[in-house]
Amino acid sequence: MAEIDKDIVLIANRGEIALRIIRACRRLGLRAVCAYSEGDRGAAYLDLADQAICVGPAPAMNSYLNIPALLAAADATGAGFIHPGYGFLSESPEFAEAVRDAGLTLIGPSADVMRMMGDKVQAKRAMMTAGVPCVPGPDSVLSGDLPEISRVAEEIGYPVILKAAGGGGGRGMRMVRQQSELRDAYMVTRQEAQRFFGNPGIYMEKFLERPRHVEIQVIADSHGNALWLGDRDCSMQRRHQKMIEEAPAPGIDRDHIAEIGARCAESCREIGYTGAGTFEFLYEDGQFYFIEMNTRIQVEHPVTEMVTGLDIVALQIDVARGGQLPYSQAQIHSIGHAIECRINAEDPDSFAPSPGRITAMHVPGGPGIRMDSHVCAGEAIPASYDSMIGKVIAHGRNRAEALARARSALSEMRIEGVASNLPLHRELLADPGFREGGVSIHHLENWLAARE
Ligand code: ADP
Repeated sequence: MAEIDKDIVLIANRGEIALRIIRACRRLGLRAVCAYSEGDRGAAYLDLADQAICVGPAPAMNSYLNIPALLAAADATGAGFIHPGYGFLSESPEFAEAVRDAGLTLIGPSADVMRMMGDKVQAKRAMMTAGVPCVPGPDSVLSGDLPEISRVAEEIGYPVILKAAGGGGGRGMRMVRQQSELRDAYMVTRQEAQRFFGNPGIYMEKFLERPRHVEIQVIADSHGNALWLGDRDCSMQRRHQKMIEEAPAPGIDRDHIAEIGARCAESCREIGYTGAGTFEFLYEDGQFYFIEMNTRIQVEHPVTEMVTGLDIVALQIDVARGGQLPYSQAQIHSIGHAIECRINAEDPDSFAPSPGRITAMHVPGGPGIRMDSHVCAGEAIPASYDSMIGKVIAHGRNRAEALARARSALSEMRIEGVASNLPLHRELLADPGFREGGVSIHHLENWLAARE
């Protein structure tokens, strides 16, 4: 057993976010130990860590989700901190508790706060109390009594949406247009909630027909300071999976965003939040409606980094180490515009994952272009995990310039050996709807359907 070293960070993740965390550790002068599975053995990004340690076989259950193996890796390498990245164990209160009980520090909020935000009803209640606007509907789970449920729906007004309190990943949700559908929808959603999330609790809210997805990035330290770092528009989604994100959200009054951002920061102080986090909202007809909080770093954090010039992952590590946020809210400025395209190894038409070996790859560059990718030519995209190849992020003085730079970067980029969604991104950046800005969360799916 090695002695705990406060300058060593174990990265309990893989791929591009593992590399992103390695880079932040390096910036801060910390040692990065990267956990990897047998499926990632030999991956090039592992060479960039100070040390890499195998935590188990390829299936995530046995490696990236294996708490005892990850703790053993921390123990063997002396790591005092664990960065969970996104996905895997990043929002697991059980993991946060196990890390704490092992005498280590998780780079993220406390297990209690994570648990509260993981229960969407509790999260909604906390936000209502903090004055953050929420989707109309009660801040409690539904009773099992159908006449009562029907009254709640009448009061909200159809259409409504039934959502699993413990839900995530776009599952356990059902829209209900009229009373005749309510009973069956409730039964099915409750069964799903029990099956997928082990929590049969269901709540109801107004179904918004054409919202945008707009979110607020926050960061909070353990000294009572919390900042909001800006907003992102992530409305370009397919099956609740984001494909293109941008900062700031186009066409929304900046004073309104600032008011919502300030409330998010305030609610971080109220609930004792620490670390990086994101408040997700639906935005429709000039109003924001909180839907959930993500208690981790997000895939799309680079667009906020590009417009603010901040290193959010380094800040995240810094506050976990007890540091005070080095800025005041007045020192956070957003300059220009940034757009991120998620490049996946998948068929651009069927969206089926396309794992395999990348035989050739050309990464774009030039003014305002950033590429976050853990792979290079000769490397494989394994079938066991998500199919992300990397993210192309373009920054410009304004949205038009960011778009132009993104387009030229994508036209330059080349990936051979696996199918990718590069051609789809090229088309999307040329789509008049997206170019205009401010599309709803249905735009991408409607666009795909029209193309068929
Ligand atoms: P998850 O944690 O599963 O991602 P969210 O609460 O974030 O669940 O909702 C996921 C998506 O479901 C949203 O981005 C939106 O597309 C849709 N959605 C959720 N709540 C509503 C609502 N009240 N009205 C319309 N769409 C909704």
